[in-house]
Amino acid sequence: MLDVLIIGAGPAGLYAADQLSATGYSVTVVDRMPSPARKFLMAGRGGLNLTHSEDLQTFVTRYRNAAPFLAPLIECFPPDALAAWCHELGQTTFVGSSGRVFPTSMKASPLLRALLRRLQTNGVELLTRHRFAGLSSSGEALVQSGDEDPHPFPARAMLLALGGASWPKLGSTAEWVPILKEHGVGIAPFQPANCGFHVSWSPYLKERFAGHPLKRVEFRMGETSRFGEAILSEKGLEGGVVYALSADIRETINTAGSARLLLDLRPAMDASVITEKLSRPRGKQSLSTFLKKCLKGTPFEMALLREAGPLPETPTGLAGLIKSVPITCTAPYSIDRAISSAGGITLTELTPDLMLKKLPGVFAAGEMLDWEAPTGGYLLQACFATSHRAAEGIKRYLEQKSCVTSS
Ligand SMILES: Cc1cc2nc3c(=O)[nH]c(=O)nc-3n(C[C@H](O)[C@H](O)[C@H](O)COP(=O)(O)OP(=O)(O)OC[C@H]3O[C@@H](n4cnc5c(N)ncnc54)[C@H](O)[C@@H]3O)c2cc1C
Repeated sequence: MLDVLIIGAGPAGLYAADQLSATGYSVTVVDRMPSPARKFLMAGRGGLNLTHSEDLQTFVTRYRNAAPFLAPLIECFPPDALAAWCHELGQTTFVGSSGRVFPTSMKASPLLRALLRRLQTNGVELLTRHRFAGLSSSGEALVQSGDEDPHPFPARAMLLALGGASWPKLGSTAEWVPILKEHGVGIAPFQPANCGFHVSWSPYLKERFAGHPLKRVEFRMGETSRFGEAILSEKGLEGGVVYALSADIRETINTAGSARLLLDLRPAMDASVITEKLSRPRGKQSLSTFLKKCLKGTPFEMALLREAGPLPETPTGLAGLIKSVPITCTAPYSIDRAISSAGGITLTELTPDLMLKKLPGVFAAGEMLDWEAPTGGYLLQACFATSHRAAEGIKRYLEQKSCVTSS
């Protein structure tokens, strides 16, 4: 009988296939799509951010509520181990100026090609266009290919690495949710993460400034602030700094119905310095011209300030607004284009080896588990670290099974 059936050929599924086949286990990987790892390849388009080089203590805090669960897994398979695995596959990595770690090629395709070659050498069978359609009464996966009826796919152990719910057209449709729920597995609802947010801009701002970037700005959401770039779109706000705050923004919207962000247009300048600059005599200059002269203010910034209501008349009031332009986010953008998702298999459903307590012999890894993280390499690091732990767990499980059978 097949040792391990892995369902899902994303980074989590393929990494586990590599670890298990290298130990000599027979492994088959199935995926519903015509080719493997489509989201991983998409991630590589803008530069594949594999992981981050910051110290491990800070690193694990990025996983918010899931940090206590993921910390031991990431300690066992830290960023250095991930980089070493890439090097083993002939892909060197480098640390960018922001501390983010990338493959030297910047893309996902050379790493994926090398991994698929090694899997083939190790005898791993990869079946694309094979869909996980359910579990039989005896716990075997039911797999469907083309129009045929789903058929049981017996294996001594199974790894589910089916991904989250963002970008479903790349394969991760979360259609596995009802299957596991039917077996009593707790699943937190999927929600968009690392996504943009809807804002009701005035028609003027939308028509005139949609697509304009906000560079070197700071956004504050409650106690948290992030520095970076964002883009104003017709329907709202998106971009790195918004994604970085997206979990806080989403949670506030969930509880309060909307979330107020404060935008600092001059984070490098103290409010008192801005006030001093604005205290110069304005004469007959329009406010736009005055702001341009005093602070290199742009028409876009002027429009954003006006969006907040009547402009304060005093230099102190105007400086206060420039440091804290209020922006109300009403809803996250659709999960269909979110970089990642929050939600998934509740962590209490898993043993420390990532086996589902309610389905012995069935393990789970990757983004289908209920954790979330900002961009910066934290998503892939958690996918690989959970896959590493699940592969170790499967080895232990199969060894125990062999001992029981032979005694
Ligand atoms: C635009 C974009 C950019 C990104 N950039 C980065 C980045 O730079 N750094 C980073 O850390 N992360 C990034 N990510 C996130 C990262 O790609 C994901 O977190 C990661 O791919 C998740 O890996 P996974 O193996 O858990 O799931 P996935 O990669 O989603 O793979 C799951 C696989 O399961 C298959 N599957 C699903 N359902 C079934 C079924 N019923 N039957 C059979 N097969 C099924 C799917 O077809 C898919 O191949 C990015 C994501 C996007 C969308």
